[in-house]
Amino acid sequence: MYEDKRPCKLISMLRIGIGYDSHRFSPQRTMWLGGVRIESEQGLAGHSDADAALHALTDAILGAIGAGDIGELFPDTDPRWHGQASSLFVERAVELASEKGFGVINCDLTIITERPTLGPYKAEIRKNIARLVGISDDRVGVKAKTNEGLGWIGRGEGLAVIAAVLLEGKNQLKKTPGPKGKRSR
Ligand SMILES: [Zn+2]
Repeated sequence: MYEDKRPCKLISMLRIGIGYDSHRFSPQRTMWLGGVRIESEQGLAGHSDADAALHALTDAILGAIGAGDIGELFPDTDPRWHGQASSLFVERAVELASEKGFGVINCDLTIITERPTLGPYKAEIRKNIARLVGISDDRVGVKAKTNEGLGWIGRGEGLAVIAAVLLEGKNQLKKTPGPKGKRSR
């Protein structure tokens, strides 16, 4: 059996989170993904700007710190969030994580849609997400893939995004010194 001899405090410094979001396509809406305006015949239906990438990312961060989900923090019944840029949700989630002593190490997103083609936007989305969560571009992954024509995504009814994030506790080692006489290596 694998025996993990690392002090627990090292493990407790890391938090992983996953987020998922989907939105239906809607004509007469502007499409936003990762805070970037996407040229498309149709946008995404939703109460806010319906940026599914930033919603999934927000949920991943909230999940990592056990702070509920985007629907609890920003209910779509609240007129304050109507038409709101979803960057605000990410910024609030990062703020909550920071209040709990955590900062983002990296994040990784997969956008699943048949159209539009997102290749030309991936670099800009990465850059924008990196700025929002306060890390460098090379710590942000943005992938785009189709659903091979399968199901509701395949029929072009909407799109989905999966986001994963890793958070790191700040200064927690200083608060919890290791066993007596042993120095952490
Ligand atoms: Zn959403």
